[in-house]
Amino acid sequence: MGLALYRRTRDSGRTPEPGVSESRTGVRGRKSHPAPLFVIQEHHATRLHFDFRLEEDGVLKSWALTKGPMMERGVRRLAIEVEDHPLEYEKFHGFIPKGEYGGGKVLIRDHGTFENIMATKSQPLTVSESIEAGHVEIHLKGKRLKGAFALIRLDKAAGSEPSWLFLKMKKKPEISLLERAQCFAAKKGSSETAPSRSPSRSKVAARKKTAAAQKRSA
Ligand code: MN
Repeated sequence: MGLALYRRTRDSGRTPEPGVSESRTGVRGRKSHPAPLFVIQEHHATRLHFDFRLEEDGVLKSWALTKGPMMERGVRRLAIEVEDHPLEYEKFHGFIPKGEYGGGKVLIRDHGTFENIMATKSQPLTVSESIEAGHVEIHLKGKRLKGAFALIRLDKAAGSEPSWLFLKMKKKPEISLLERAQCFAAKKGSSETAPSRSPSRSKVAARKKTAAAQKRSA
């Protein structure tokens, strides 16, 4: 998508929002780093909404939610895909003057980093590829939002903004993504010399038992 629409809809002389230089519009191919950012902004525009943004390809991929995303497992929220925002927007809060695009107060409700769960699947996808495919899964590490969330596209009608469902995933991963990746790498390495053994559930259960026992004795 790039930042052309963001720039076109804003008058840099009138809004305190971060500007975009010519060279930054439509930036592509920036390597994703291990701790990309996410932010949720409460935006008191004509209609109150919550902007959910994920760092990818040097921009913030953005969705507008009609209700706050602070929610329980299994709860779903409608999320409308909106224009990419510049990375600097992650820190933006303040007043956009009345009459300007998105005029009203902007507050940061949560921010942090995330892991792309789709990158750990047997057919790994980047966040951009996941958006294109209409199925994004991320592990959020915010102050309020923690855990696995998904964005599922409902439609991609021409001429209108695609609508998505934003939901907190029901299943809690047994072990962290990093641990799982290391486990997978170890398994791959050992499979040439020894018969492969799946990461046993009993090991995880044993670890949990030990932790529980330690808690009890503490
Ligand atoms: Mn907004």
